[in-house]
Amino acid sequence: MEIIVQKFGGTSVRDERLRERVLQHIAEARRTYDGVVVVVSAMGRKGEPYATDSLLDLLEGRGKYLPARERDLLLTTGEIISAVVLADLLWRQDIPATVFTGAQAGIVTDARFGEAQILDVRPDRLRAALERGRVAVVAGFQGSTEDGELTTLGRGGSDITAVALAAALGARRLDIFTDVNGVFTADPRIVEEARPLKYLTYAEVANLAHLGARVLHPRAVEIAMQYNIPVRVRSTTSDDEGTLIASLSELRARAPFRERVVTGIAHVFGVTQIKVVRETVDPELQLVVFRAMAEHGISVDFINVSPNSVAYTVRDEEGERVAEILRGLGFEPIVTPGCAKVSVVGAGMAGRPGVMSRIVEALVGHDIPILQAADSHTTIWVLVPGERAQDAIRLLHRHFELERE
Ligand code: ADP
Ligand code: MG
Repeated sequence: MEIIVQKFGGTSVRDERLRERVLQHIAEARRTYDGVVVVVSAMGRKGEPYATDSLLDLLEGRGKYLPARERDLLLTTGEIISAVVLADLLWRQDIPATVFTGAQAGIVTDARFGEAQILDVRPDRLRAALERGRVAVVAGFQGSTEDGELTTLGRGGSDITAVALAAALGARRLDIFTDVNGVFTADPRIVEEARPLKYLTYAEVANLAHLGARVLHPRAVEIAMQYNIPVRVRSTTSDDEGTLIASLSELRARAPFRERVVTGIAHVFGVTQIKVVRETVDPELQLVVFRAMAEHGISVDFINVSPNSVAYTVRDEEGERVAEILRGLGFEPIVTPGCAKVSVVGAGMAGRPGVMSRIVEALVGHDIPILQAADSHTTIWVLVPGERAQDAIRLLHRHFELERE
């Protein structure tokens, strides 16, 4: 049985006109494949009635008083509504469809409510529906523990549902439908001349996703790579091919594969920089600071240390708490909220001299301060003030000529 999994994001199912497009993509897939599994997100974005953010807004303090178990129970409804509405549309067109919650689809998770990890996928019921000629419509972003507690997988979790099902069913391909036509050289909402990349390896997308390109969930990319499932990222409103993500050997067979120094620019907004500087060398400094962060369960990123200073970043939401913890230890931290981490990503930059100097040229030449920088063999990161972040992304995009094919 040849199976395809199609995932439709929140903006792809937000209104009747778009859901008609979704229907066309499903009908098209039914002509080519024996089995079609459709994974949906909650409809729309913040402000629209059944979007995940709107559900959270029903709760006092967006659910900060309510236990995570109950919060998850509420959040699972968004995707269930979306799945049933889509199934209704399918039945109206004489396309038989069966709706599954995550639990019914066999998604088994641990009990970490709000950010559960998938432990196992048991797709027998899905497979049975497919064998009866039904389209299986699955509520994304959710699963259940062995003892039946409903859980959610965290932001962007429908991508994970889709790829986990594709892996468990041995699907031929996963199509991720969204509001942009593929993975771009930078977020097209920020960089007007950003361009969709036709082919990307799993490793290239994993890098972009881990560094903030939210078009695909990083864990979803990891699973796709592990099970070697070709993924297409494409627009719901067009028939264009979008971006094909696959292994290097698969891509070599399809397209002349050119080496790229830089693939794209990714970014994360909402980052707070924390700096602790001592007058003299303090051998205990790093130990004390990072132990305190670990003890309070604060995840830190972008760490630079020197014998008398440490600098690192945390999410803006944690900034104040971190400052208080450090003051409690007798430090005087310098706290800079609202920064952005901008990453220049490309597997081809390994061992190539001059990339960092080009980044400095692009930014400092336009009076954008670099608050921190670091690199790995595939990425160079810079931390910049939030109010200059969009400029920084655009300048780097232009400086590396990413608008050119
Ligand atoms: P969905 O609800 O369909 O999952 P998301 O909002 O999660 O949609 O992801 C799509 C968005 O990702 C786009 O609207 C775009 O603004 C953003 N994005 C960020 N970086 C990139 C990139 N490099 N390529 C494409 N889209 C990107
Ligand atoms: Mg998403």
